[in-house]
Formats: sequence, C-alpha cells, structure tokens
Amino acid sequence: MLITLQQAAQKIRSVNKILVTAHIMPDGDAIGSTLAAMMILRSIGKDAQVYIDDSVRKNLHALPSFNEIRRPTADETFDAELLLILDTSAERIGNVRKLTDAPTLNIDHHVTNSGAEVDELYLEPDAAATCEIIFKLARELNATITPEIATCLYTGLATDTGFFQFSNTSAETLAIASELIACGVSPNFISEQIESKSLAEVLGLAHALSTLKMYFDDKVAGMMIDHEASKQFESTEGFIDEIRVIDTVDVAFLITEKAPNFCRVSMRSKGVDVSKIANVLGGGGHIRAAGCSLKMSLADAEKTLIAAIGSAI
Ligand code: 5GP
Ligand code: MN
Repeated sequence: MLITLQQAAQKIRSVNKILVTAHIMPDGDAIGSTLAAMMILRSIGKDAQVYIDDSVRKNLHALPSFNEIRRPTADETFDAELLLILDTSAERIGNVRKLTDAPTLNIDHHVTNSGAEVDELYLEPDAAATCEIIFKLARELNATITPEIATCLYTGLATDTGFFQFSNTSAETLAIASELIACGVSPNFISEQIESKSLAEVLGLAHALSTLKMYFDDKVAGMMIDHEASKQFESTEGFIDEIRVIDTVDVAFLITEKAPNFCRVSMRSKGVDVSKIANVLGGGGHIRAAGCSLKMSLADAEKTLIAAIGSAI
C-alpha cells in the first residue's frame, strides 16, 4: 500500500524495535541511508539495528557507525516490530527477510519499485537518493541531524547523483546538501573516501576499457569483464562512467561475469529509459541508471542485452 511520508513517520513512532536494511551489492545510498536511519531512530529513543546481507565496498567503511552493521548468519533471527527496507524493493535484501516476520515499511526512490511483498511503501521517484527522503523523515520525526548523520546522508546524495552532476540533481537535492554541510559535513572527506581506488581497481579499469565495443552506429557502448578478470578486482564501481562520456553514446553498459553463467549488468543513459530495459530483463533502477542479473554466459548476456537495447532505442 502506498503511504505518505507523514504516515511513514507515524508508523515509526508507533513501534520500538526496528530492523533497518537495504539492497545487496550496497552502494553509498544504501549504506548511507541505513546508517543515518539507525542513528536518527536511536536519537528519538528507538532500538534500531542495521543488517545488510552482503559485503560492503571498502570506500564506505569510514562512515560513522559503519562497524555496527551486521550480516545475517544462518538460522539467525531478530525480534523486531518493524522491518524498514531502504533504497530497494523487498526482493533484493537477501537473507535479511528471514530474520523477522515483522510488518514491513519500505522507503525508496526507484521508479521500478511496485511495492510487491511489503505492507507499506513510501516511494518518491523524484528524490535523487533515498538519503534525500531520510533527511525529510528526520524532520518529520523532529530528530536533530548530528554531523555523523549528516555525513551518511551526504554520502548517499553524492554517490547517487555522481557528485551532483546527474539529471536527478534537483534544487531540493542541493538545498539539502547545503543544510547537511551546515550540520557539519566535510565534502572533501567524503569525496576522498568515495573516489579512492586500489591499484588493482585502476588496473581493472584499464582491462575493462580494452574490451570496449560500440553498437548501433556508436550510440551504444559496452564493456565486458569475464569471470577470470572479475576475480582480480574487488569493485567495478565507476567503470561505466568512463564510457558514458563518449560523445556519440546514449546507452552505456557494463557486463561483469561474477560467476560462471551469472552476469551482472549495469546501464547508464543520456536519454533512453534504461529502467524499462532492465525491467524487461528482471532487474530495475532509474531512467538513467539501471541494472539486472542474467543467469547465462557472458556471450549470451551480451546478445540478450543488445537485443533488449535494440528494441528500446
Ligand atoms: P548499478 O549499475 O550502479 O549497479 O545500478 C544502477 C541502479 O539500478 C541502482 O539504483 C540500482 O539499485 C538499480 N539496480 C541495479 N541492479 C538491479 C537489479 O538487479 N534489480 C533492481 N530492481 N534494481 C537494480
Ligand atoms: Mn539510491
């Protein structure tokens, strides 16, 4: 059921013990929004705990309270009154779903979130990041934004907007970023943490660029990393941005073969709605940034994706 932000705040006020989670393969908005929500909820007297069913990229480990994030273990349970799912629909939270039978409140900004499998959904597709919504939720709850909370929220805003460059950057995004800086955020600390890469990652980027292929009169650019290569580096974060900039390109994609017959797809666009392409392939996301998983070989994933992109452009 779709609800308002006021109703979401009311729901939160009515319970005490809250399990907070976000999507697997967590990004800055997933980690920033869950940690900020946990700190906000604790500051108004709630018992809140973050669980994420995945490892988290090193660049996010310096965030305040990062060490409090737990990962569910086999047969573990968590006796919560509410499961708060942030920055994703319910199907991408892994084994966190098994921790509790508590009612679910979902807060998200992904246009492809249909609200299936949750009790209540507050969806704001125009919000640049879930962190933007959590900032407004803090207001609703009369919570004070500490420098620690502000740092987490700013990280989500910055990462989901490509440091305030993408089309989702609105006047409201910048107004909230401005308030967060007034609350004590150091923008340079966050950008230095987030943009730092290991030597292996930079070498990985060089390898990825060597696989660059162009399609449809250079309107589409793609890179493909096979399993052998993908084992060499921890993250491919940001790789796709290096080919998105090609002047003729509307759609850029990166296919990473994470395991034999299991490929992860990232897409970015300047015009075409890639959330629709991802949706057709069982994934989702935003108009200009979306992704999906394809259970097939790298060569088949390329064919499948190119066919889907071809019917969309
Ligand atoms: P990225 O390419 O950075 O992994 O993802 C781009 C956007 O698409 C993010 O907002 C991400 O949450 C969403 N996304 C990526 N993969 C999937 C997927 O498999 N399913 C859904 N529903 N969304 C995805
Ligand atoms: Mn997000």
